[in-house]
Amino acid sequence: MSEQFPIDGSRDALWMTTAVAAPPTSELTDHIDCDVAVIGGGLTGLNAAVDLADKQFSVAVVEANGLGFGASGRSGGQVNLGLNLGPKALLEKFGQQTGTRLIDLVIKTPDTVFERIKRYQLDCDPVQNGWVQGAVDNRQLKSQLTMAAEYREHGCDLEELDAETLSTRTGTSKYIGGLSCHNAGSLHPLSYTRELARVAMTKGAKIFTHSKVTGIDNRKDNQWVITTNGGSISCNQVLVCTNGYTDNVVPGLSKKVVPVRSVLAATEPLSDSLRNSILPNQITFVDKRRLILYFRYDRAGRLCVGDHGPMRDEFCIEDFNDVKQRAIDVFPQLATVKWDYHWGGRVAMTKSTLPFLHNVAPGLTAGMGYNGRGIGMGTMMGKALAESIYAKDKCAFPVTTPKPFMMHRFHSAGVSMTVKWMALRDHIDSLIQDDS
Ligand SMILES: Cc1cc2nc3c(=O)[nH]c(=O)nc-3n(C[C@H](O)[C@H](O)[C@H](O)COP(=O)(O)OP(=O)(O)OC[C@H]3O[C@@H](n4cnc5c(N)ncnc54)[C@H](O)[C@@H]3O)c2cc1C
Repeated sequence: MSEQFPIDGSRDALWMTTAVAAPPTSELTDHIDCDVAVIGGGLTGLNAAVDLADKQFSVAVVEANGLGFGASGRSGGQVNLGLNLGPKALLEKFGQQTGTRLIDLVIKTPDTVFERIKRYQLDCDPVQNGWVQGAVDNRQLKSQLTMAAEYREHGCDLEELDAETLSTRTGTSKYIGGLSCHNAGSLHPLSYTRELARVAMTKGAKIFTHSKVTGIDNRKDNQWVITTNGGSISCNQVLVCTNGYTDNVVPGLSKKVVPVRSVLAATEPLSDSLRNSILPNQITFVDKRRLILYFRYDRAGRLCVGDHGPMRDEFCIEDFNDVKQRAIDVFPQLATVKWDYHWGGRVAMTKSTLPFLHNVAPGLTAGMGYNGRGIGMGTMMGKALAESIYAKDKCAFPVTTPKPFMMHRFHSAGVSMTVKWMALRDHIDSLIQDDS
């Protein structure tokens, strides 16, 4: 066992040492009444809280740990466009009207996040310099070009990059081409989350941390009563924003998401010459292979690299060997740099590969399942959850009933097998490419 075991995804995240201070919060120790209770103090719940408080609703957010304890404080912080399904598949799934509204929402996602940061002056290192996705083989490139054509039909211009342009933008010649989205970018995910909490509180929301919800009861007159380890809340509406950290408080909900671990490692601050040779314009960069690999800088010039992780919440230093090696394969200049930070957390996957806004019961709504794209989509979901309360017709997120995963309790084994299968398929694709 490694000396550095265990690495805790929350405590050891780079973001914990570089974030703005969290606003002062306390535990819930009494009974309170409010209009809306939000379970989960990540960026989904806090975006909903900001918008609801702005509309004069009395809001209470209850978070089992500290603010941003979940994926929001551990994320790669890339603000991306898109869902796992492209425009054509979304139209097929949701029909013309709902599908078109959802596609518009997806296209607006990066600008919406950066506009909110500006409007509320959130101190969270926003960088909107664009995103590049690199393809290593013709199959990937073809699927990128199809995706770009579909988005173009909806007025969203994804730039197609040839190998040379991609190499100039990124500093690697491993890719045969790719796509670029100019309005995507990155932010400091924990600062974003804490700043949303500050704004929500300024607008009158109450935020309780280290207050784990242990029960939800529907009492008479459509009042919900939420019990925590220290107090309780009576309210008309409950929003459940617990994503990959969903427990059994809402029966059946945890079976609708499978938590998959993703890990990140961050280098020491890179020298100017390295920074000029790797992602010189501070774009974010993603590899299109089935096993995700992504890169971004933080404000001090540390390169943060993310990959899939093992199926447990505590990591050992060896769990990060793959991500570092994969990063060096793409940018050999990283071979001698020091890696200062290692962390990870849970990404919530859904059966449809799409997030869901789900009315569990009248007045009890869940929004989650971003499949690794929750900085943008979680922000949009938070807004949509608020709209589902104050202006149903404005809400562009379709209300759906997500399917549970069969054999959910065996998900760890299932995910491990899937990851191995995806790695094998990536490997086979690379052999075919080498031969062609
Ligand atoms: C390592 C990693 C890298 C990622 N990188 C990216 C990226 O680059 N770009 C991107 O778009 N997305 C990324 N994601 C995904 C993104 O971070 C998440 O989708 C997003 O942060 C989810 O926010 P959330 O508020 O819905 O959930 P979370 O931030 O996970 O918050 C859920 C909260 O609910 C709380 N909770 C759970 N149960 C209870 C209870 N019973 N009572 C009270 N509170 C409870 C938890 O403590 C937790 O804090 C990444 C995720 C991970 C883990």
